Parts: sequence; structure tokens; C-alpha cells
Amino acid sequence: MKRSNEPLIDAAAIQQRVAALAAEISTDFAGQDVVVLPVLKGGVFFGVDLARAMTVPVQLDFIRARSYEGDRSTGRVEFSIEPTVPLRGKTVLIVEDILDTGRTASAIVERLLESEPEAVELCVLLDKPAGRVVPMSPRFVGFEIENNFVVGYGLDYNEQYRQLSAIYTLEER
Ligand code: 5GP
Ligand code: MG
Repeated sequence: MKRSNEPLIDAAAIQQRVAALAAEISTDFAGQDVVVLPVLKGGVFFGVDLARAMTVPVQLDFIRARSYEGDRSTGRVEFSIEPTVPLRGKTVLIVEDILDTGRTASAIVERLLESEPEAVELCVLLDKPAGRVVPMSPRFVGFEIENNFVVGYGLDYNEQYRQLSAIYTLEER
């Protein structure tokens, strides 16, 4: 498997969308205690660019969620890294690379609600609504895409391609 030569979404389009989302989030969350929480590893590139473009003060922390191998149908998710910043009373903005079935994101929301935050909101760079199994509608979406496997800007195939500044589809060969 190899990435496409031409990007599906180029670097300039991503950065333009990141700036627009950061402005929207900064307006919506003005005056709140915001924690930006990228989901490792895929959400880190997007999350950090987003935080950098935001004009309200934020705290940064991370969460790492992994679906149990061979147990995806139950949607059981295990957390190998959890936030250490206190979340009680905070507006927690989960930043994910992509929303597909919705299982990972819904498990993360459930886990974070145990910390009694003021609010938990979801921001995804890419949304594949066709893949949805668990109903989830993110408050902030970068781009809606078709049900193809994509890589780049945090998204990997066997840990490759994360560092690319654009999004590519994966091709046979
Ligand atoms: P969900 O629980 O919503 O099905 O899973 C979302 C996770 O699956 C993402 O965080 C990502 O790790 C992985 N994923 C889903 N679609 C894609 C894709 O097109 N490309 C890559 N690289 N990962 C994907
Ligand atoms: Mg992921």
C-alpha cells in the first residue's frame, strides 16, 4: 500500500481550515477554562496547530485510547495515557484526527465525563459520516470525506505517513 501522489486535501487548505476553526472555537469558548486534549497519536499534529492558532488561553494535555484487538464489535476501548491536568469544571476539547464508527470518541467522552468537567466537546479534522455505528455529531469538523482510508497530518498506515503536511488516500500496490 502506498499513498496517492496528489493530496486529497492539501497543506494550505488544512491550515486555512485550522485557522477558521481556531477562530470559531476561541469565540465560542471565550471566558471558559479550556483544556485542549489531542488524542494520541493521530490527533497531535492537528491539536497542536489548532491550539497555536487559538486566541484564548488554554491548557494542553493528552489522552491515548486503543480499541481492544479483535474486539472491535464491542467497542471496548482501553486508555494507556490519561490527562493529568485537573478536568473538573473545565471545558474539555477533545481533538481527534478522524471520526469513523464513533466508538473511540464516544468511549473517550464517557471516560472524561467521570472527571466532572463543565463540558466535553469534540473537534475532528476529518469526518467519515458513512462509517458511523455509534451516533456522534462533533461540534467542530474540519472536512467531511468519503469512506476511503486516508493518511497524513497525523494519520498513519502502520505508523508511516504521520508527518506529512497534507492528507492523501492510500492506494493498492
Ligand atoms: P472510530 O472509533 O471512530 O471507528 O475510529 C477512529 C479511529 O480509527 C481514528 O482515530 C483512527 O485511528 C482510525 N481510522 C479511522 N479511519 C481512518 C482512516 O481513514 N485513516 C487512518 N489512518 N486511520 C483511520
Ligand atoms: Mg486515532
